[in-house]
Amino acid sequence: MWFFSEEEKMLQDTVRQYALAELAPKIEHLDHEEKFNDAAFRKLGDLGLLGITVKEEDGGAGLGAVAATIAMEEMGAVDASTTLSYLAHTILCVNQIGANGSPEQKKKYLPKLISGEWIGGMGMSEPGAGSDALGMTTKATRTADGYNLFGGKTWITNGPNGDIFYVYAKTGEGKKNLSTFIVERGMKGFSTGKKFSKMGMRASPTGELVFEDVKLPESARVGEENSSVKMMMRNLDLERVTIAGISLGIARGAIEAATAYAKDRKQFNKPIASFQQIQERIAEASTNYEASRALVYSCAKMWDEGKLVGKQASVMSAQAKLHAAQMATKVALDAIQILGGYGYTREFPVERMMRDAKLIEIGAGTNEIMRVIIARQLLGEAADQ
Ligand SMILES: Cc1cc2nc3c(=O)[nH]c(=O)nc-3n(C[C@H](O)[C@H](O)[C@H](O)COP(=O)(O)OP(=O)(O)OC[C@H]3O[C@@H](n4cnc5c(N)ncnc54)[C@H](O)[C@@H]3O)c2cc1C
Repeated sequence: MWFFSEEEKMLQDTVRQYALAELAPKIEHLDHEEKFNDAAFRKLGDLGLLGITVKEEDGGAGLGAVAATIAMEEMGAVDASTTLSYLAHTILCVNQIGANGSPEQKKKYLPKLISGEWIGGMGMSEPGAGSDALGMTTKATRTADGYNLFGGKTWITNGPNGDIFYVYAKTGEGKKNLSTFIVERGMKGFSTGKKFSKMGMRASPTGELVFEDVKLPESARVGEENSSVKMMMRNLDLERVTIAGISLGIARGAIEAATAYAKDRKQFNKPIASFQQIQERIAEASTNYEASRALVYSCAKMWDEGKLVGKQASVMSAQAKLHAAQMATKVALDAIQILGGYGYTREFPVERMMRDAKLIEIGAGTNEIMRVIIARQLLGEAADQ
């Protein structure tokens, strides 16, 4: 991207090397076995990438949305699963503690989360509250010295293997009476329920969080009571632009695989790259990838420059995610078509890329919810009649 700084270009190169050395050799096997690349994940701590958006004075890299999106794209081109776990850790948990935590919370949690000793996750979705996140029913009730937490979360990335969870819960009757708590593995009454077996993102563990009268001290609450809606929504916006980076990575990986195959594979005594229908798919895929890339990084850049606030941030991050997610699924499907029968097998990575790409049309808000956000902004009150 034309506006990447020297620091961002160096980061891109570092993550590219890391992904090729640590992720590429393992991903096919781990995807098949549904296992997490724990060793590679922890190495991200040595590279200083686990607190990418946290301020330097709090032990982070002090970088922004463009840098985080670059990291997602470079890792996502090779192994979208580990990248999804990385996103849940850095953007949904570590970034939030860095942005909203008290000095004591930052001191207690950030060093181990940033070094890779602890893995983090975020609990918002529930069995009865997905798209309607504010319909959650997990509840924290006041006690003399803190709160008792009851309820459960589902679809939590890093749920089965995480140590620290940034959890949203109701602390009052109204939809917006939402507070945040940091819940630690090992707390009495907290368990991590079942692990899901998934179609894609299979090397990123997804599971449930179960809270059965978890006694939380007052110091576990992040920010003021009943004040979490704004920070949850703001983080969803950042999640959407950075997760779009994973879609970019998947699309780029699929285009590279399809291009290499098209040059190599011969039918009718010619490389299939000489057939116009193959050329058309590759040309369209590459153009759509570049268009998405321009939108996603512009959104990230505007975020970093403080030009995206309030609804503008929600709309542009929704547009970036909607476009990138749909583009990546289409590109991965086209790559399968270009590889023919081989594309449909596990001999080549494009079928995994298609399975992984589909998740981004659902997680962090579905395509339909992205369209609702965009349409409401354009149509105003008329959209809700
Ligand atoms: C692999 C994976 C990882 C995830 N990681 C996390 C995580 O770490 N933390 C977390 O909190 N959550 C996580 N999620 C949850 C994710 O954010 C939700 O799955 C998502 O928001 C959709 O919610 P739902 O699955 O309950 O679908 P539902 O909300 O039940 O939606 C079902 C269908 O109805 C449509 N729909 C719903 N409302 C509307 C509407 N108003 N207009 C039009 N259509 C509508 C949806 O678009 C969808 O097609 C993860 C999910 C997956 C699959």
